[in-house]
Amino acid sequence: MDVLHKISQHLPGVIYVFKRTPQGHMSFPYASEGMKRLCGVDPELLREDASAFFATVHPDDRAAMMASSDRSMATLEPWRLLYRHVLPDGRIVWAEGEASTERQPDGSVLWYGFIANVTERILTQERLARSERLFRSMVEHLEELMFLVAVEPDGAFRYLAGNRALYELLCVSPEVWKGARPRELFAPEQAAHFEAMYRRCLQEGKTLRYEERLEIPNVGCRQFQTTLTPIDGEAGRIELIVGVAVDVTERNRLLRAAEEQWQLAEQRARTIEVLLESAGEGIFAVDPQENVVLWNPAAERILGYTADEMRGRCAYEVLHSRYPDGTVMPREACLIHQAVRERRSFPPGEDYFLHRDGHAVPIRLTVSPLPDGGAVVIFTDITTLKQMEAELRRQAGTDSLTGLANRRAFFTAGERLLAERDPAWPIAVLMFDLDHFKQVNDRYGHAAGDQVLRSVAAILRETLREQDLAGRLGGEEFAVVLPHTTVAGARQLAERLRQSAAERVRIPGSGGETVTISVGVAAVAPGETTLDAALSRADAALYAAKEGGRNRVVVAPEARRE
Ligand code: GH3
Ligand code: MG
Ligand code: MG
Repeated sequence: MDVLHKISQHLPGVIYVFKRTPQGHMSFPYASEGMKRLCGVDPELLREDASAFFATVHPDDRAAMMASSDRSMATLEPWRLLYRHVLPDGRIVWAEGEASTERQPDGSVLWYGFIANVTERILTQERLARSERLFRSMVEHLEELMFLVAVEPDGAFRYLAGNRALYELLCVSPEVWKGARPRELFAPEQAAHFEAMYRRCLQEGKTLRYEERLEIPNVGCRQFQTTLTPIDGEAGRIELIVGVAVDVTERNRLLRAAEEQWQLAEQRARTIEVLLESAGEGIFAVDPQENVVLWNPAAERILGYTADEMRGRCAYEVLHSRYPDGTVMPREACLIHQAVRERRSFPPGEDYFLHRDGHAVPIRLTVSPLPDGGAVVIFTDITTLKQMEAELRRQAGTDSLTGLANRRAFFTAGERLLAERDPAWPIAVLMFDLDHFKQVNDRYGHAAGDQVLRSVAAILRETLREQDLAGRLGGEEFAVVLPHTTVAGARQLAERLRQSAAERVRIPGSGGETVTISVGVAAVAPGETTLDAALSRADAALYAAKEGGRNRVVVAPEARRE
């Protein structure tokens, strides 16, 4: 007993012998010093009577204590109990007692046992239970799916728990989930995939993060970002896997949509760039202050300014400040200015832009306002078109063989001359025709005849004045209107023409032969507004000249006054 007593001083509890007689008397024949630390009662006081000990047992635990003692006494099975002491200062002490029994010849029973102070352990457990409850309620309210997977010693996986989000999404009750194997809950392929991931988590022994797709009945295909964390058990073996799955379907969809949008915008920007680079049209844009912000290569080619030279400069000032004749164009007349200010567009029309070297380039342009202010200008260089137009206009009234006015142009211009005439001024007309021209063609060929016609036109041009009008009326018949010219003057001029032809209009291939012409002269009477009458008088005179032997000039008699 002495040895025991010494050892007991080092133990964190009480070693004791408890005795109960058949009459019910209870005592602690022996209790170590620890009894005082455990419940504040001196073990000496308990040697004859245990009441002081029971007095310190928590009132709520006394019944349980007596019941367990009765049971142990009746059956002689070992006594075991977790209960509380209340110390004099009110502190609670958790105690765990256990003892084996031994019946005495007198019918009383002895318990040899140990009571440990487990207050620390119980408090820790309570703290743990509290924080677990807290954690549980947290997990329950998470949007993320959470689940625990038990790893059984044979490597099989079983679900231990899940949270509300998981049960709701999968439409499974906690009862079905808990204890189930993956293949009992999911389609074989899906379950095989899950198990493969759990195995990988075990092999790598660290947190695993990955994305996976899951086909959920009544919900459809969802994408998850899943994290598996292995938890070591006591044996150093991984016994548990904590899984968290975040539904990233919507996030991925948004990401994809954003990506697509971005790519589309990129593509559009590249397309526009190529369009600007390769367009044959000059394209430029101005900001709300009418300063150039964009200038394409075609604009540079047409107007001579590089993009660097134009950027930031006012379009009106550089391109539109003067008209082609050099006079100042007011800003209000500039279409670019109007488009920006009034936010309206201008359909294709003709205009001029000033070239870097100062000349005006005829252009066709459209101007469109931009939604956020400013405008886009698209233009083409129509210099060539303008030249062609002028040429066409000239050609429409010109006889292509001789370059003189053709019949229509001659009459149009001639009648304009009559309309503008001062009644006091004389006007005369000539009609002339080549003599025996059919023979020229017959003998020397049509090409030679054409050459002769061109030579006659050349003589006409060098003989006539600026204001005179000559035309080829058809074949080898010509007519001339001579403003400010009397019949006498006209006759002189006709004579000069006749002589020049006879002397200088040689027939190609003839060995120097020349042609002659016959001319009829007539005056335009003061009241006449058309050329017809005067020309027909001249024609009659021409006829007379032919009759008279050709190569001569005949003046028509004056018009009869009515
Ligand atoms: P006349 O002295 O009476 O005027 O005799 P002629 O042979 O000139 O007779 P006429 O004026 O009737 O002849 C017209 C001829 O002019 C007919 C045609 O062969 C020729 N001729 C008309 N136009 C052209 C042309 O564009 N080129 C050539 N080479 N010949 C033409
Ligand atoms: Mg003729
Ligand atoms: Mg003739």
